[in-house]
Amino acid sequence: PDEIAVGELATRLKVNVAQVIKKLMGLGVMASISEVIDFDTASLVAEELGAKVEHEVHVTIEERLFEVDEDREEDLQERPPVVVVMGHVDHGKTSILDAIRKTRVTAGEAGGITQHIGAYQVEKNGKVITFLDTPGHEAFTSMRARGANLTDIAVLVVAADDGIMPQTVESINHAKAAGVTVIVAINKMDKPTANPTHVMEQLTQYELVPEEWGGDTICVPVSALTGQGIEDLLENIILVAEVKELKANPNRRAKGAVIEARLDKGQGPVATILVQKGTLHQGDIVIAGTAVGRVRVMRDDQGRNLKEAGPSTPVEITGLTEVPAAGDIFDAVEDEKLARELADQRAVEAKEKQFAAYKKVTLDNLFSQI
Ligand code: GDP
Ligand code: MG
Repeated sequence: PDEIAVGELATRLKVNVAQVIKKLMGLGVMASISEVIDFDTASLVAEELGAKVEHEVHVTIEERLFEVDEDREEDLQERPPVVVVMGHVDHGKTSILDAIRKTRVTAGEAGGITQHIGAYQVEKNGKVITFLDTPGHEAFTSMRARGANLTDIAVLVVAADDGIMPQTVESINHAKAAGVTVIVAINKMDKPTANPTHVMEQLTQYELVPEEWGGDTICVPVSALTGQGIEDLLENIILVAEVKELKANPNRRAKGAVIEARLDKGQGPVATILVQKGTLHQGDIVIAGTAVGRVRVMRDDQGRNLKEAGPSTPVEITGLTEVPAAGDIFDAVEDEKLARELADQRAVEAKEKQFAAYKKVTLDNLFSQI
């Protein structure tokens, strides 16, 4: 349609209708909420309010750059589950990740291991599990906010002597919102004051009914300290993963998300990324947010050099032109020049967005004073 009602335009721009009317007045157009204005006027108002105007070029570049996103059923192969550990502070998230990795990270987080990247893989009964080792669940939520839904399973750690606490509830809500399966690890079972039944009773109040009581939530009593139940936890993760039938096509250009990134003095931008589909190769051109580059060095969680990495594999890469943000989607692409063009566009878009936010704030201030 080549016209739009003022009210509708405000809704689409997610701004107050008064702002639209004010802008229109500035353009010499007197219009009420129900009146329709033509497309050109609407675009002018949209631009003035800093809204992202669709450029046809965008679509073209992305279409030319990225592989069509649908994989055929017959191309899909089993992939490892991606697991995140969540829970209240001090309930033992780090200790459990540590017990699983069987290295002592808690006792001196920095010193313990050589190559600490934000994720690692373990093998159990011939199956691989990928753990995201992100600090807290902030990373998890920020990634989701950017549309990178990385996780399949959340291990909710609840200390058996403490029970459900505020951050436990937050974690449950995040996991629910993300649609991931929750497995509860009732930790600190070695403590004399451990009361797993109480924890299970509390869980039922959050719609997490233990299997033992006819629900579908797996609860595994563990102790990160003694190692009790850790193998059981891993087995249950594999079980859940099998039920979920997690699959990806390894035979396409890689796509995934940035888990964390930093600037290294010697190596330049270093990013830990999780390949979600396809296979990433050394030498591949990748774009992550506004960062572009050719994968120079690719290492696994133990610091070993890799030539390629398939679905659900976390790797550390160097070769990007700048440091991407955690949660940025990355794509392996064919055309470096086009990738740079897209990166430039994204940078412009980001600036426009920032400016729009700034404008909106000032406009709101203005209106609140009237
Ligand atoms: P996080 O904040 O959830 O990462 O918790 P941490 O892993 O840092 O653990 C918090 C504290 O609880 C540390 O002092 C751990 O040594 C202790 N802790 C963790 N797991 C266990 C456990 O299974 N048993 C006992 N007794 N202490 C534990
Ligand atoms: Mg911790």
